[in-house]
Amino acid sequence: MIIVIDGPAGSGKSSTAKELARRHGIRFLDSGALYRAVTLRWLEKGRPGREEFIELLTDIDIRTEADAENFRIFINGGEVTEKIRSGEIAQHVSRVAAVPEVREFINRYMRDLVKTGVYIADGRDLGSAVFPDADLKFYMDASLDERAGRRYKEMREKGQNVTLDEVRDNLASRDEMDRNRAADPLKQPEDALVIDTTGKSFDEQINEMSEIIQKNSFSKTAITKHLKS
Ligand code: C5P
Repeated sequence: MIIVIDGPAGSGKSSTAKELARRHGIRFLDSGALYRAVTLRWLEKGRPGREEFIELLTDIDIRTEADAENFRIFINGGEVTEKIRSGEIAQHVSRVAAVPEVREFINRYMRDLVKTGVYIADGRDLGSAVFPDADLKFYMDASLDERAGRRYKEMREKGQNVTLDEVRDNLASRDEMDRNRAADPLKQPEDALVIDTTGKSFDEQINEMSEIIQKNSFSKTAITKHLKS
C-alpha cells in the first residue's frame, strides 16, 4: 500500500508526508533524499562524467531507516541524513536526477522498499511514473514566493547562511529542470488530488489531507490487515 505526494520544490511535501505518516501510523519515504544522497556520492567522487558515474552506481549501497518520524539514510554504511541538505547538493541534484540510469537505480530501490510495509512517499514523478497504481495520489503546489519564503525560514533556522533570493532562484531552476527533463519529469498525474497550500496553515492542510486518507480506507484496521496478508 502506498500514498504518494508529488509537487514542485519547497511545496511542503516532505513535512506533510512526515506528519501524515505520524498520524496514520505508516512509514515515510523521502524520494528526494535518495537523489540527494546519490548526488553527494557524485560530489565525493570528484564530479565524474556521466558514463563513469553510471558505472559507479553499482558500488553505491543505499540503506534507509524509516518510521513515522524520520527518514534516515546511509550510503555505504555511513549516515548522510543531515549532510544531504547542503546548498551545494541542492545546486547539483536536479542535474544528477535527470540521468535515466540514476532514476532507474533509485526507482528500483523504492519499489523494493514499499514491498516491506505501508508508506507515504513524496517526490516529483511518483504518481506518474514510479507508482502509477498508488492507492492515493496527491499533488501539492504553492506560489514560488510562498515556497521560497518557507524554505528560506527553514534553512535559516538550521543555521544555513543563505539569502531569500538564492533560495528562490534555486527552487525556480530546479523546477525548470525537473519539469523539462526527458526522463520522468515533474508532472501532475491526471488522477491526483490537487492541494494548493498558498495561504493555508500547516494544520489546515494536514487536516484536509488526513480526512481524505481516512475516507480512502487508510484506517488503522485496513493497514493492519494489509500487513498481515
Ligand atoms: O524533494 P527534494 O527537493 O529534496 O528533491 C531534490 C531533487 O531531487 C529535486 O529537485 C529533483 O531534482 C529530484 N527528485 C526527482 N524525483 C523525485 C524526487 C526528487 O527528480 N521523485
